Amino acid sequence: MRLGSFTRGGEEHLGMQVGDRVVSLTEIGRSEARYGRLGGARDATALWSDAADELRAVSRRLQSDGIPAAWRGSTIAEADCQWLPPVLRPEKIICIGLNYRDHAAESKMEVPKEPVIFNKFNNALVGAAGPVILPDNSAQVDYEAELAVVLGRKARHVPADKAMDCVAGYTLMHDVSARDWQFRTGQWVSGKTFDTFGPCGPVLVTRDEVPDPHSLDIRLTLNGTVMQQSNTRNLIFDIPTLISYLSEMFTLVPGDIISTGTPPGVGFARRPQVFLADGDTVEIWVERVGTMRHRCVAEARAAHERSA
Ligand code: ZN
Repeated sequence: MRLGSFTRGGEEHLGMQVGDRVVSLTEIGRSEARYGRLGGARDATALWSDAADELRAVSRRLQSDGIPAAWRGSTIAEADCQWLPPVLRPEKIICIGLNYRDHAAESKMEVPKEPVIFNKFNNALVGAAGPVILPDNSAQVDYEAELAVVLGRKARHVPADKAMDCVAGYTLMHDVSARDWQFRTGQWVSGKTFDTFGPCGPVLVTRDEVPDPHSLDIRLTLNGTVMQQSNTRNLIFDIPTLISYLSEMFTLVPGDIISTGTPPGVGFARRPQVFLADGDTVEIWVERVGTMRHRCVAEARAAHERSA
Protein backbone atom coordinates (compact mmCIF):
# COMPACT_ATOMS: atom_id res chain seq x y z
CA MET A 1 0.00 0.00 0.00
CA ARG A 2 1.03 3.58 -0.66
CA LEU A 3 -0.34 5.74 2.15
CA GLY A 4 -0.03 9.43 2.76
CA SER A 5 -1.51 12.62 4.09
CA PHE A 6 -2.69 15.42 1.86
CA THR A 7 -4.71 18.62 2.02
CA ARG A 8 -7.99 19.08 0.26
CA GLY A 9 -10.22 22.08 0.77
CA GLY A 10 -8.05 23.24 3.65
CA GLU A 11 -8.49 19.96 5.51
CA GLU A 12 -6.01 17.15 6.21
CA HIS A 13 -6.90 13.82 4.64
CA LEU A 14 -5.35 10.40 4.68
CA GLY A 15 -5.05 8.80 1.30
CA MET A 16 -4.17 5.60 -0.47
CA GLN A 17 -2.49 5.93 -3.84
CA VAL A 18 -3.90 3.56 -6.46
CA GLY A 19 -2.01 4.00 -9.72
CA ASP A 20 -2.42 7.63 -10.74
CA ARG A 21 -5.34 8.24 -8.35
CA VAL A 22 -5.51 8.93 -4.63
CA VAL A 23 -8.49 7.75 -2.62
CA SER A 24 -9.34 9.73 0.53
CA LEU A 25 -9.54 7.17 3.33
CA THR A 26 -10.77 9.95 5.58
CA GLU A 27 -13.88 10.45 3.45
CA ILE A 28 -14.52 6.72 3.02
CA GLY A 29 -14.22 6.30 6.77
CA ARG A 30 -16.77 9.02 7.32
CA SER A 31 -19.28 7.80 4.75
CA GLU A 32 -19.15 4.03 5.36
CA ALA A 33 -19.59 2.79 8.91
CA ARG A 34 -17.62 -0.45 8.38
CA TYR A 35 -14.53 1.60 7.51
CA GLY A 36 -15.30 4.15 10.23
CA ARG A 37 -11.97 3.93 12.02
CA LEU A 38 -10.20 5.17 8.88
CA GLY A 39 -11.98 8.51 9.32
CA GLY A 40 -10.41 9.22 12.68
CA ALA A 41 -6.81 8.15 12.07
CA ARG A 42 -4.25 10.91 12.45
CA ASP A 43 -1.60 9.91 9.92
CA ALA A 44 -0.36 6.98 7.91
CA THR A 45 1.26 5.18 10.83
CA ALA A 46 -1.71 5.72 13.14
CA LEU A 47 -3.80 4.23 10.38
CA TRP A 48 -1.47 1.28 10.25
CA SER A 49 -1.74 0.61 13.98
CA ASP A 50 -5.33 1.72 14.77
CA ALA A 51 -7.27 0.71 11.68
CA ALA A 52 -5.18 -2.04 10.09
CA ASP A 53 -8.13 -4.35 9.38
CA GLU A 54 -10.16 -1.61 7.65
CA LEU A 55 -7.09 -0.58 5.72
CA ARG A 56 -6.52 -4.10 4.42
CA ALA A 57 -10.19 -4.45 3.54
CA VAL A 58 -10.12 -1.23 1.51
CA SER A 59 -6.85 -2.25 -0.14
CA ARG A 60 -8.25 -5.65 -1.14
CA ARG A 61 -11.39 -4.05 -2.56
CA LEU A 62 -9.39 -1.55 -4.59
CA GLN A 63 -7.11 -4.27 -5.91
CA SER A 64 -9.93 -6.56 -7.00
CA ASP A 65 -12.53 -4.06 -8.27
CA GLY A 66 -10.58 -0.88 -8.96
CA ILE A 67 -12.07 2.32 -7.56
CA PRO A 68 -15.82 1.73 -6.91
CA ALA A 69 -18.23 4.27 -8.36
CA ALA A 70 -19.32 5.30 -4.86
CA TRP A 71 -15.74 6.33 -4.05
CA ARG A 72 -15.04 8.38 -7.18
CA GLY A 73 -16.04 11.61 -5.44
CA SER A 74 -13.51 10.83 -2.73
CA THR A 75 -10.73 10.41 -5.28
CA ILE A 76 -8.32 12.88 -6.85
CA ALA A 77 -5.60 12.64 -9.47
CA GLU A 78 -2.21 11.94 -7.92
CA ALA A 79 -0.79 14.76 -10.03
CA ASP A 80 -3.10 17.24 -8.24
CA CYS A 81 -2.45 15.81 -4.79
CA GLN A 82 -0.87 18.20 -2.30
CA TRP A 83 1.01 15.67 -0.23
CA LEU A 84 1.95 16.48 3.33
CA PRO A 85 4.68 14.44 5.05
CA PRO A 86 3.40 10.85 5.42
CA VAL A 87 3.93 11.15 9.17
CA LEU A 88 2.70 14.57 10.17
CA ARG A 89 4.21 14.88 13.64
CA PRO A 90 6.74 12.11 14.23
CA GLU A 91 8.10 11.87 17.73
CA LYS A 92 11.61 11.51 16.31
CA ILE A 93 13.40 12.17 13.04
CA ILE A 94 16.71 10.34 13.32
CA CYS A 95 19.33 10.73 10.63
CA ILE A 96 22.36 8.57 9.94
CA GLY A 97 25.55 10.22 8.72
CA LEU A 98 28.25 8.75 6.46
CA ASN A 99 26.36 5.51 5.90
CA TYR A 100 27.46 4.80 2.32
CA ARG A 101 31.06 3.64 2.04
CA ASP A 102 31.79 5.75 -1.00
CA HIS A 103 30.17 8.87 0.52
CA ALA A 104 32.38 8.59 3.62
CA ALA A 105 35.37 8.45 1.26
CA GLU A 106 34.35 11.53 -0.74
CA SER A 107 33.76 13.42 2.54
CA LYS A 108 37.34 12.45 3.50
CA MET A 109 36.03 10.92 6.71
CA GLU A 110 36.78 7.47 8.04
CA VAL A 111 34.22 4.75 7.53
CA PRO A 112 32.50 4.85 10.92
CA LYS A 113 32.79 1.87 13.26
CA GLU A 114 29.45 2.75 14.83
CA PRO A 115 26.56 4.63 13.20
CA VAL A 116 26.87 8.43 13.20
CA ILE A 117 23.54 9.76 14.42
CA PHE A 118 22.00 13.21 14.48
CA ASN A 119 18.46 14.49 14.16
CA LYS A 120 16.08 16.94 12.64
CA PHE A 121 13.20 18.54 14.49
CA ASN A 122 9.65 18.69 13.20
CA ASN A 123 10.10 22.29 12.01
CA ALA A 124 12.24 20.85 9.20
CA LEU A 125 9.55 18.51 7.95
CA VAL A 126 7.60 19.43 4.80
CA GLY A 127 5.81 17.40 2.14
CA ALA A 128 7.44 16.08 -1.00
CA ALA A 129 6.65 19.26 -2.93
CA GLY A 130 8.58 21.41 -0.45
CA PRO A 131 9.60 24.09 -1.16
CA VAL A 132 13.00 24.15 0.51
CA ILE A 133 13.62 27.63 1.89
CA LEU A 134 17.28 28.61 1.48
CA PRO A 135 18.16 30.65 4.58
CA ASP A 136 19.76 34.06 4.03
CA ASN A 137 22.46 33.24 6.58
CA SER A 138 23.86 30.23 4.70
CA ALA A 139 25.75 30.27 1.41
CA GLN A 140 26.30 26.51 1.32
CA VAL A 141 23.00 24.67 1.32
CA ASP A 142 23.57 21.17 -0.04
CA TYR A 143 21.35 18.28 -1.12
CA GLU A 144 21.27 14.66 0.14
CA ALA A 145 18.95 11.97 -1.24
CA GLU A 146 17.98 9.35 1.33
CA LEU A 147 15.82 6.30 1.83
CA ALA A 148 13.90 6.68 5.09
CA VAL A 149 12.40 3.96 7.25
CA VAL A 150 9.19 4.57 9.20
CA LEU A 151 8.56 2.62 12.38
CA GLY A 152 5.26 0.83 12.78
CA ARG A 153 5.85 -0.68 16.21
CA LYS A 154 7.47 0.18 19.48
CA ALA A 155 11.06 -1.00 19.63
CA ARG A 156 13.33 -1.20 22.66
CA HIS A 157 16.34 -3.54 22.88
CA VAL A 158 15.32 -5.21 19.65
CA PRO A 159 17.82 -7.69 18.21
CA ALA A 160 18.68 -7.15 14.57
CA ASP A 161 16.99 -10.38 13.49
CA LYS A 162 13.65 -9.11 14.86
CA ALA A 163 14.05 -5.47 13.83
CA MET A 164 12.29 -5.65 10.47
CA ASP A 165 9.04 -6.58 12.26
CA CYS A 166 9.03 -3.03 13.62
CA VAL A 167 9.10 -1.38 10.17
CA ALA A 168 5.84 0.06 8.81
CA GLY A 169 7.41 1.00 5.51
CA TYR A 170 9.62 3.33 3.55
CA THR A 171 9.61 6.85 2.23
CA LEU A 172 12.01 9.42 0.81
CA MET A 173 13.83 12.08 2.78
CA HIS A 174 15.79 15.01 1.44
CA ASP A 175 18.40 15.67 4.14
CA VAL A 176 19.01 19.31 3.21
CA SER A 177 22.23 20.45 4.84
CA ALA A 178 23.77 23.90 5.41
CA ARG A 179 27.45 22.92 5.20
CA ASP A 180 28.79 26.22 6.53
CA TRP A 181 26.77 25.67 9.72
CA GLN A 182 27.39 21.90 9.84
CA PHE A 183 31.18 22.20 9.64
CA ARG A 184 31.62 25.36 11.73
CA THR A 185 31.67 23.14 14.81
CA GLY A 186 31.49 19.39 15.28
CA GLN A 187 27.73 19.62 15.77
CA TRP A 188 25.94 18.29 12.74
CA VAL A 189 22.51 19.29 14.00
CA SER A 190 23.39 22.96 13.44
CA GLY A 191 23.29 22.61 9.68
CA LYS A 192 20.57 20.02 9.40
CA THR A 193 17.35 21.28 10.89
CA PHE A 194 16.64 24.73 9.50
CA ASP A 195 12.94 25.19 8.67
CA THR A 196 11.96 23.09 5.59
CA PHE A 197 15.26 21.13 5.56
CA GLY A 198 13.40 17.81 5.59
CA PRO A 199 11.11 17.26 2.60
CA CYS A 200 9.61 13.82 3.14
CA GLY A 201 7.25 11.66 1.10
CA PRO A 202 5.35 11.62 -1.08
CA VAL A 203 3.90 8.52 0.60
CA LEU A 204 4.69 5.73 3.01
CA VAL A 205 5.18 2.54 1.01
CA THR A 206 4.37 -0.40 3.23
CA ARG A 207 7.07 -2.96 3.96
CA ASP A 208 5.38 -5.76 2.00
CA GLU A 209 5.86 -3.78 -1.22
CA VAL A 210 9.63 -3.62 -0.81
CA PRO A 211 10.87 -7.19 -0.41
CA ASP A 212 14.54 -6.17 -0.14
CA PRO A 213 15.23 -2.58 0.99
CA HIS A 214 18.95 -3.24 0.58
CA SER A 215 18.89 -3.53 -3.22
CA LEU A 216 17.18 -0.29 -4.29
CA ASP A 217 18.58 2.16 -6.81
CA ILE A 218 18.66 5.72 -5.49
CA ARG A 219 19.17 8.88 -7.55
CA LEU A 220 19.08 12.64 -7.15
CA THR A 221 18.90 15.13 -9.97
CA LEU A 222 19.46 18.86 -9.70
CA ASN A 223 17.74 20.82 -12.48
CA GLY A 224 17.66 17.58 -14.50
CA THR A 225 21.34 16.66 -14.05
CA VAL A 226 22.13 13.46 -12.16
CA MET A 227 24.18 14.35 -9.07
CA GLN A 228 23.82 11.25 -6.90
CA GLN A 229 23.33 7.69 -8.06
CA SER A 230 23.85 4.55 -6.05
CA ASN A 231 22.11 1.55 -4.56
CA THR A 232 21.11 0.84 -0.98
CA ARG A 233 23.30 -2.29 -1.07
CA ASN A 234 26.14 0.17 -0.37
CA LEU A 235 24.80 1.03 3.09
CA ILE A 236 27.44 0.48 5.77
CA PHE A 237 24.89 -0.19 8.53
CA ASP A 238 21.78 -1.89 7.20
CA ILE A 239 18.26 -1.18 8.42
CA PRO A 240 18.00 -3.98 11.03
CA THR A 241 21.37 -2.98 12.45
CA LEU A 242 20.29 0.67 12.71
CA ILE A 243 16.98 -0.14 14.39
CA SER A 244 18.62 -2.52 16.83
CA TYR A 245 21.41 -0.02 17.62
CA LEU A 246 19.05 2.91 18.17
CA SER A 247 16.68 0.79 20.25
CA GLU A 248 19.53 0.15 22.68
CA MET A 249 19.52 3.88 23.49
CA PHE A 250 15.84 4.80 23.47
CA THR A 251 12.36 3.54 22.68
CA LEU A 252 11.42 3.86 19.04
CA VAL A 253 7.71 4.43 18.52
CA PRO A 254 5.33 4.17 15.54
CA GLY A 255 5.87 7.08 13.20
CA ASP A 256 9.52 7.59 14.06
CA ILE A 257 11.55 8.24 10.93
CA ILE A 258 15.07 6.93 10.41
CA SER A 259 16.77 8.49 7.40
CA THR A 260 19.44 6.02 6.39
CA GLY A 261 22.11 8.32 4.97
CA THR A 262 23.14 9.59 1.56
CA PRO A 263 25.24 8.18 -1.28
CA PRO A 264 28.16 10.00 -2.96
CA GLY A 265 27.79 13.01 -5.19
CA VAL A 266 26.85 15.68 -2.66
CA GLY A 267 27.62 19.27 -3.62
CA PHE A 268 30.32 20.19 -1.11
CA ALA A 269 32.53 17.25 -2.11
CA ARG A 270 32.51 18.22 -5.82
CA ARG A 271 35.17 20.29 -7.53
CA PRO A 272 33.95 22.88 -8.14
CA GLN A 273 31.50 22.72 -5.27
CA VAL A 274 27.78 22.92 -6.03
CA PHE A 275 25.24 24.45 -3.67
CA LEU A 276 21.52 24.96 -3.98
CA ALA A 277 20.34 28.26 -5.43
CA ASP A 278 17.06 30.13 -5.66
CA GLY A 279 14.89 28.52 -8.35
CA ASP A 280 16.68 25.16 -8.38
CA THR A 281 14.60 21.99 -8.71
CA VAL A 282 15.64 18.83 -6.86
CA GLU A 283 14.23 15.42 -7.73
CA ILE A 284 14.86 12.34 -5.61
CA TRP A 285 13.95 8.84 -6.74
CA VAL A 286 14.24 5.50 -5.01
CA GLU A 287 13.25 2.33 -6.80
CA ARG A 288 9.87 0.96 -5.61
CA VAL A 289 9.41 3.86 -3.18
CA GLY A 290 8.78 6.72 -5.59
CA THR A 291 9.80 10.21 -6.63
CA MET A 292 9.70 13.56 -4.98
CA ARG A 293 10.35 16.88 -6.62
CA HIS A 294 10.57 20.33 -5.11
CA ARG A 295 12.06 23.70 -5.74
CA CYS A 296 14.38 25.82 -3.67
CA VAL A 297 13.40 29.37 -2.81
CA ALA A 298 15.59 32.06 -1.23
CA GLU A 299 14.28 33.07 2.18
CA ALA A 300 13.82 36.69 1.13
CA ARG A 301 11.78 35.71 -1.90
CA ALA A 302 9.75 33.17 0.08
CA ALA A 303 8.84 35.92 2.56
CA HIS A 304 7.90 38.18 -0.32
CA GLU A 305 5.75 35.48 -1.95
CA ARG A 306 3.97 34.83 1.35
CA SER A 307 3.07 38.49 1.80
CA ALA A 308 2.05 38.96 -1.85
ZN1 ZN B 1 22.10 12.76 5.40
